Amino acid sequence: MRTAGPIAFLMSSSFRFLVAGLLLIVVGTSLSISPAAAADKAPQPSRRAAESVLRDSDNVRASRQVDEVFRWADTLRQEGQSAESLKFVEAGLRLAPFRMDQQIVAAELLLISRQTNAAREHASIVWQRAESDELLSAAAGVLGLPTITNPPATTWPERGPAIGLVPLGPVDLWLLRALQTDLGKVLQVPVVILPAITNLPTADRPPGHLLAEQWRKRFRDYPHDPVLVAKGRKLQLNPKSIPSNEDVFRLVSAVLESEDRRTKGTNLVADFERDYAALNRLGAQWRAEPLLELLASAHPEVHKPGRALLGVTRNDLFNGESRFVFGLGNSEKRSAVFSYRRFTASVNDTAPNSAKLLERARKQSLSSIGFALGIPRCSSPLCARAYPNSLDEFDAKGSDLCDACLRGFRWELVPR
Ligand SMILES: [Zn+2]
Repeated sequence: MRTAGPIAFLMSSSFRFLVAGLLLIVVGTSLSISPAAAADKAPQPSRRAAESVLRDSDNVRASRQVDEVFRWADTLRQEGQSAESLKFVEAGLRLAPFRMDQQIVAAELLLISRQTNAAREHASIVWQRAESDELLSAAAGVLGLPTITNPPATTWPERGPAIGLVPLGPVDLWLLRALQTDLGKVLQVPVVILPAITNLPTADRPPGHLLAEQWRKRFRDYPHDPVLVAKGRKLQLNPKSIPSNEDVFRLVSAVLESEDRRTKGTNLVADFERDYAALNRLGAQWRAEPLLELLASAHPEVHKPGRALLGVTRNDLFNGESRFVFGLGNSEKRSAVFSYRRFTASVNDTAPNSAKLLERARKQSLSSIGFALGIPRCSSPLCARAYPNSLDEFDAKGSDLCDACLRGFRWELVPR
């Protein structure tokens, strides 16, 4: 018989569902960052550990542990043993070919051993798929292409309609420039990149904040659960009031560990660690509204007919009590902000795909600029401005504007 309490509740109400709901995106496998044991993990890289992963006949398990191989390769590289290091990187890539960070390492090691063609092959993969300026610049270096630089400072055109793109904090410049070109084509107006706003406020929610709040509520709802009480006492925490999120997660880990020990076939700690790692990848969250204010007040010159501002950020956003928002617009301010964080492969733990990232960013830009211009929300799922309830719906909606939305843009973006 099960004891009543948070554990029984947790088992019956599908812990996985709760966490997945918080994330929106259900995450795949990833290296876990254990809240309780982060410090104990990550042993020194060793040849033995790397070779043991490579010998493993279970590919799924081996690919999950492939970092052992890459870490050992890195150690060898730092010791100047490039040829030996390359062997391990290439063996690791056979288990994890989508690791762009390691594809570029392979390219650089091949260059050292003067295998130029092979180096270029690895670099082209990165050039085609990578989503960050850092990796793209490294690939460009190997391929002899120009590296990604800051766009020249531009201003609004003297007259006529225009969209101003403004980086909010550090953003990937390749994406910003690709958006500039794309939006110009769709909207048929000049799109200018205005100076970045770098003095963003500090984050409003630390990583994993919502998950910690959910667990605080559970702890308060079941204050007398014997396991909870015992684990709380052991960690010197009062389950009814734990200010630090990290402490909440320590207690969660301890409670789940105890449940995993007591029952056969459950893997609650592993599930929790995976979701916790996903939340860490997502990072902290910012309120969208103050960023919108900041943007609008930095560019009062937006208040001329036919102009709109779009702030672009890599920071995850939320609004009011929401879990998150992709973007937020305000027609009185003629401004909108959007975040591409949840569109990236590194957050979703999927294969890097710069074309997909650009397409998502473009859909969201059209959606957000529409709100800045006061165009009503669209009801067609085929339109880029349709409201998505999930990333899946986001991907399923069309990439272009429906006729009604296009007419709205044309009306707002004509010179008056
Ligand atoms: Zn539409």
